[in-house]
Amino acid sequence: MSSNDITIKKFDDHVVHSYGRYPMAMKKGQGRRCVDENGKEYIDFGSGIGTNSLGYCDEKWADAVCAQVRTLQHNSNYYYTDVQAEFAEKLCATAGYSGVFFGNSGAEANECAIKVARKYSFDKYGKGRHNIITLVNSFHGRTIATLSATGQDVFHNYFFPFLEGFIYVTANDIEDLKAKLDDTVCAVMIEYVQGEGGVNALQQDFVDAIFDLCAEKDVLVIADEIQTGVGRTGKFLAGENFGRKADITTLAKGIAGGLPMGACLMNEKCSGVLTPGTHGSTFGGNPVACAGGLAVLDRLNTEGFLDDVSRKADIIKTELEKCSEVAGVSGIGLMVGISLKTKKAGDIAKEALNRGLLVLTAKEKVRLLPPLTIADDELREGLKILVEILEE
Ligand SMILES: *Cc1c(COP(=O)(O)O)cnc(C)c1O
Repeated sequence: MSSNDITIKKFDDHVVHSYGRYPMAMKKGQGRRCVDENGKEYIDFGSGIGTNSLGYCDEKWADAVCAQVRTLQHNSNYYYTDVQAEFAEKLCATAGYSGVFFGNSGAEANECAIKVARKYSFDKYGKGRHNIITLVNSFHGRTIATLSATGQDVFHNYFFPFLEGFIYVTANDIEDLKAKLDDTVCAVMIEYVQGEGGVNALQQDFVDAIFDLCAEKDVLVIADEIQTGVGRTGKFLAGENFGRKADITTLAKGIAGGLPMGACLMNEKCSGVLTPGTHGSTFGGNPVACAGGLAVLDRLNTEGFLDDVSRKADIIKTELEKCSEVAGVSGIGLMVGISLKTKKAGDIAKEALNRGLLVLTAKEKVRLLPPLTIADDELREGLKILVEILEE
């Protein structure tokens, strides 16, 4: 058996089979490339589902993380740390929010957002205004509350009873939104670009309708930017592409460059809602994760970094639109969905793996979430492989 197969067997013998996995055991990575146990190299257009935002083992990021591990790896949230203070300050300044709660994952960030929205409304209006509108085809996480928020029936199986208080509106259907946005609703939760749902950007007029109607009724807007945030769309937050800023924004995935972290950002209206004892997380705001987050922020804040993300996104779009098998390219920035004319996304992902390219899928589309730092030559090399497979 190859090293790859030995690892896969040991893994499958002991780790529960809750994922459909590709038969590849990743050993190490450097920059935008990774290597499996057999020594085969891959160009990575998935970056751990948008998580390794600076690629693999970025030097400055790794230095910052290692230095923090050797200084203070963890303390409880009963005490303060300079690194969490520094990260919170910079994150709030960069994103334009007044407060943040740190957890360890996207689902946790969304749990926090749901709690804040409900308590905001309860504090101000009392009981009965607890419903949250989410969108059909959304994805908000795997915990019971975030599964309940997720507007896809396939996720509403087995684990009954789900949480009450979510109302699903069809994306881009303003009439549906108007009909359901009644006085039982405390928040509307959206992804500007639905990621798992198929890399579909919301329409500007629908986003405008949400913000305008919510402002009229003091209903909060929650932007789930777990996939779209932290530079992925060429702006720090995807909302900037729509000229909008939600009351609450959740981040995770790429926020700490591959370390577990989630953040729930709140504007002035919401940052006083959580009071001592109302929410918490043992690992939340862990110093090592914060050090990783600071390294990511420093890079994103360097002159021209985000413009370069948009420039590279244009290269992808241009190259793919030339391909005869491509029916359309969706998404914003380096969050790319590729609709195919005749082929199946899953088959493309498998064949890409064979040829040394990692890509993702979302519904019936091939999905690309390359590291934000991907270099032009690697981007072109990866695209060449992909286009070859598509055109066969
Ligand atoms: C990935 C994702 C989540 C869940 O994040 P986890 O870290 O897996 O809990 C929630 N919302 C969106 C939009 C996501 O892409």
